Amino acid sequence: MREPDCLFCKIIAGTIPSEMLYSDDQVIVIKDINPQAEVHLLVIPREHIVSLKELDASHDTLMAHILRLLPKLAEQQGLSEGFRTIINTGRGGGQVIFHLHVHLLGGRNLPGFG
Ligand code: 5GP
Ligand code: ZN
Repeated sequence: MREPDCLFCKIIAGTIPSEMLYSDDQVIVIKDINPQAEVHLLVIPREHIVSLKELDASHDTLMAHILRLLPKLAEQQGLSEGFRTIINTGRGGGQVIFHLHVHLLGGRNLPGFG
């Protein structure tokens, strides 16, 4: 389940510290260490899934859980005007950490695309 060399698996295991905002049996939510906007969170499944490409039907409940969690997190962060979500997939998509995660961004300094 956990990959020994995966940074996010280590954060989930607690061997690397992080600023954790939310946690349940399926996901953790941490602050991005290098925020690209006033609010920049990462929603990370506890299961080591490499990317969107590795999803199968067994992950449907997890992915629905993540999608429904996002607006709740945004509200908790005071993002009443809205928020942006990004999932980078593969090197060509800008993915750097190969453990699936959803970026939640909002507030001041929201970056544009490209
Ligand atoms: P990716 O490019 O893979 O979609 O995003 C990886 C994200 O993880 C980046 O936004 C990066 O700032 C963040 N990140 C990298 N290392 C750490 C870390 O040790 N702790 C936290 N909280 N975020 C990290
Ligand atoms: Zn992992």
